[in-house]
Amino acid sequence: MSGRSDGARSPADPDVLVVGAGPAGLSAAAELGRLGIAPVLVVDREPEPGGIPRHCHHAGFGLQDLRRAMSGPAYARRLTRLAADSGARLSLETTVTRVDPSGAVSLVSPSGLAELHPRVVLLATGARERPRSARLVPGDRPAGVFTTGQLQQWVHSHHLPVGRRAVVVGAEHVSFSAALTLREAGVETAAIVTDLPRHQTLGAFALASRALLRIPLLTSTRVVAVHGRGRVSAVEFEDRISGRRRTIGVDTVVFTGDWVPDHELVRRAGTRMDPATKGPLTDGGGQTSVIGIVAAGNLVHPAETAGSAALGGRRVAQRLAGRLRRGDVGRAVDGVEVQVDEPLAWAWPGIVRPDDVPVRVLLRTSAFTGRRTVSVEQAGRVLGRARLRHATPNRSLSIPGDWVADVDLLAGPIELRLV
Ligand SMILES: Cc1cc2nc3c(=O)[nH]c(=O)nc-3n(C[C@H](O)[C@H](O)[C@H](O)COP(=O)(O)OP(=O)(O)OC[C@H]3O[C@@H](n4cnc5c(N)ncnc54)[C@H](O)[C@@H]3O)c2cc1C
Repeated sequence: MSGRSDGARSPADPDVLVVGAGPAGLSAAAELGRLGIAPVLVVDREPEPGGIPRHCHHAGFGLQDLRRAMSGPAYARRLTRLAADSGARLSLETTVTRVDPSGAVSLVSPSGLAELHPRVVLLATGARERPRSARLVPGDRPAGVFTTGQLQQWVHSHHLPVGRRAVVVGAEHVSFSAALTLREAGVETAAIVTDLPRHQTLGAFALASRALLRIPLLTSTRVVAVHGRGRVSAVEFEDRISGRRRTIGVDTVVFTGDWVPDHELVRRAGTRMDPATKGPLTDGGGQTSVIGIVAAGNLVHPAETAGSAALGGRRVAQRLAGRLRRGDVGRAVDGVEVQVDEPLAWAWPGIVRPDDVPVRVLLRTSAFTGRRTVSVEQAGRVLGRARLRHATPNRSLSIPGDWVADVDLLAGPIELRLV
């Protein structure tokens, strides 16, 4: 059943408007085209398509979804071509400023303001690293403070000088990528600092950064102040175990990771939000609580690999295409909520129903754990169990979702806990 009025639509309106030309949005557009859905319009506020990978000048993209390894920019170009070849239209420097629950979408581009009435809006706006302001780091407000995304744009897109000596805050995958970018920009990394007891990337990355780049890793250490007038001059840290403080003289600070979904549009569209992921609450097909709005990629689970975002976009497109071919834009997501117990931090999808096509359930923890078992329970009844490998904060694990068939719509939330 369609809950939206097609009355306001004009022949210029796309069937599906994809917001965000990153891996999730481009892959969704390519899949929609392949499955015969047209017209599809992809918009992005940037002058170039590709999302984050377009300024990640290192290898490590494409294996999961395209079965070949490539650099970020090559991957971005390939996904753009696949979307264009499937018939999707791309509009760049086009920012969506509002998605109304009624279906109207407001856009701003160099040609002015516009309003579109697509049948479905597919939001793939990604996630962003929390900047210094959101992390409430005290001290001065000098120049020389970046996130990895800002640093990479600065270096690779604008070719601007960064500084001489930097500290990287965070020790997840992206933090080591920031250290590589700093090296390419001729900046020494004085330390990689994490408030957790260990780094959260692959052992090989951490080892390489210590052995090849000679970057010290400070664990259980938090930033307590940034100092500097005009330009950063030093960063002050506190050892979380001893309480001892130390100051390192640097002119650059890069705050990395600690992702939060780019959720302004989806939140203001009135969708129910997942307080744990801070993205919209969706089922495995990306359906939100508003009819005609679906979501994919890092917007729903911050932050995965590009391949995971791309495959998620494809999956959402497949579900959507099936419905659109039946003349149906879908229903607001309904079902049973999925909740987690500490040290689990979040699970996706956040809503399940017994008639869902099962998807693998993504999990995050807030602490390091050894090998454990996840128990999936509803009202004290065990629906499933799955063995987990070691869990690391800021990295996802996944378990099969075949237990959804046993979900009772009337028995309350699903609870996931480690046993
Ligand atoms: C430094 C770094 C290194 C990485 N390295 C790797 C790696 O080696 N391998 C790997 O697999 N993954 C890597 N990743 C992760 C990967 O890049 C992301 O997971 C992936 O890009 C997420 O895809 P997405 O489509 O969900 O979002 P994004 O790539 O973030 O794309 C979202 C798009 O939406 C657009 N947008 C947002 N809001 C609006 C709006 N209102 N109107 C119009 N457009 C909008 C943005 O401009 C953007 O282009 C890395 C990430 C970073 C930051």
